[in-house]
Amino acid sequence: TTDAPETTGPAHPSDRIDTSVAHPARRYNYWLGGKDNFQADRESGDAMAAAFPTIRTSALENRRFLQRAVGYLAREAGIRQFLDIGTGIPTADNTHEVAQSIAPESRVVYVDNDPIVLAHARALLTSSAEGATSYIDADLREPEKILGHPDLLRTIDPSQPVALMLVAILHFVPDDDDPYAVVRRLLDALPAGSYLAASHATHDYLPPEVAAQAKAAARGGGPHGLINLRSLAEFTRFFDGLDVVEPGITSVAEWRAEGAPEPRPSVAEVSMYGAVARKG
Ligand code: SAH
Repeated sequence: TTDAPETTGPAHPSDRIDTSVAHPARRYNYWLGGKDNFQADRESGDAMAAAFPTIRTSALENRRFLQRAVGYLAREAGIRQFLDIGTGIPTADNTHEVAQSIAPESRVVYVDNDPIVLAHARALLTSSAEGATSYIDADLREPEKILGHPDLLRTIDPSQPVALMLVAILHFVPDDDDPYAVVRRLLDALPAGSYLAASHATHDYLPPEVAAQAKAAARGGGPHGLINLRSLAEFTRFFDGLDVVEPGITSVAEWRAEGAPEPRPSVAEVSMYGAVARKG
């Protein structure tokens, strides 16, 4: 018949949003004081805060690291193309806003695998007229899908330097999924002069029982929230073969933090490493 209801076509992202289990993007949004989270996210976030009481400080300092890293890349490294994987729910000072405030011609490709981020993607597609932004619904563990995506190729020129942003995402990828190989594959596709900016949760400063408690709390939040805390040596391996820029691999709270709000939290309160490195 001609009047059959339309049942085909891509599902609306909201159809894929499962509010019954915690998701990292929404839990992070909760810690940052946002409104785009649900009860399961808040319960998981509170359980993790019970184990690690400064988790909100950690989330905030990570977000500030992201903004300072983009500022460094745009202002000092002259980067004009960004591939930001693990975007998160849009908040203040997203990557394109920071980059385009310095260089309006900056081009940013955002990637996340959470349908809630897709549902909010319009807030990321507010490029300056001189630049461009796009959003790809994909998983970090599918680098070929990301690298070959028409929206990526429309937005950035992969033959020119790109800053690969992997900020607070790698700890969601277990060793079984070989995050090192994923990062290598992405960097191999980018030319010399490209950068990696990354941050990562660590247990190096936590008593073992606290680290175990935080991990258990993350696990309790559901299948998506698992956190793979890594040591300094394990985080450093992501930068093998790259030239790490000053001040090296530090706490996100200490990375080029000269202008950051005082008082600075301790490295233990933050328990996140961050670094920026150049591909030679
Ligand atoms: N980079 C932002 C947001 C970090 S929150 C910041 O640092 O402020 C982590 C984000 O990574 C979430 O939005 C989550 O949905 C996303 N994420 C987690 N695992 C992912 C995967 N395998 N592929 C793509 N995105 C992922």
